[in-house]
Amino acid sequence: MIKRAVLALTLPFAGPTLAEGISLQSPIDCDLTSTCYIQQYMDRHPTAGVRDYHCAGLSYDGHLGTDFALPSTADIQKDIAVRAAADGVVEGVRDGMTDIEYTPQTAAAVENRECGNGVQINHGQGWVTQYCHLKQGSLAVRTGQKVSAGDTLGHVGMSGRAAFPHVHLSVRKDGKALDPFDPDGTLTCASPADSTLWADPPPYRPGGLISVGFSDHVPDFAQVKSGDAKKTRISTQARTLVIYGFGFGIRAGDVMRLSITGPKGQVIAKDIVFDHPQARSFRAIGKKRTWHPWPQGDYHGNVSLLRNNAVVSQSETKITLR
Ligand SMILES: [Zn+2]
Repeated sequence: MIKRAVLALTLPFAGPTLAEGISLQSPIDCDLTSTCYIQQYMDRHPTAGVRDYHCAGLSYDGHLGTDFALPSTADIQKDIAVRAAADGVVEGVRDGMTDIEYTPQTAAAVENRECGNGVQINHGQGWVTQYCHLKQGSLAVRTGQKVSAGDTLGHVGMSGRAAFPHVHLSVRKDGKALDPFDPDGTLTCASPADSTLWADPPPYRPGGLISVGFSDHVPDFAQVKSGDAKKTRISTQARTLVIYGFGFGIRAGDVMRLSITGPKGQVIAKDIVFDHPQARSFRAIGKKRTWHPWPQGDYHGNVSLLRNNAVVSQSETKITLR
């Protein structure tokens, strides 16, 4: 059982002042305050830098959409729905591309098809939305079909140019990409956005924990990303007991605070400082046992991500050693 909360970090909030013409609903059937998260916003920096609509770095250079992410690649199997953000008519669909992690080696295979399996919807009056990286074989609409806001278009996947499971949403008006969090483009770093296309704007999470878990060894990053790192059974004979935390939007100076408390008190606790920003990263701490087995019972893992001494995100997990 995992509890996760975004705490203590107060940020300017874009109120739901509707821009003219279109109102958007969430394109993903997943809670963006806990389970799922926005990994990357539209890049608002006109030239070589990176800047999201909160003047932070949750984007990459030239990114013209918003990425709504699942916690692990294993979650693709849960068939999380991608939903139409508004009423409209489907004007393009692609399916058939495999869900594999994008790397420089796979670039040639997805060239000119970076969106992967996707859907484009025309909402009239020049408004178009596009949904990318859907799961192979999941596309549920066809070209020419009328859809309503909230209709299932397919499932979240990792096809095309995607290094993690997510749906990329592009919003365009008269062919020009707009940031749905600041459609007027009036945002400056001194003032938060005063307009939005969202009927109910997803909260801005300035980084946080994606997942935490116990293991009997220090996992590698591939296992953390896939979801395989998290063990649900660990023996009292295990040589090592490990807790890890997987985070996004890491900034230089952020601290990951990890601890394990067992039936006889604290097993280990440690703060780890990140010395450079990372889009996604994990840290783990562990303890080798002595010649005795671990005491039987419940072990609680606690992980926090701290920024300027304030908790950005906190998560707990529990395992019973037998
Ligand atoms: Zn994207």
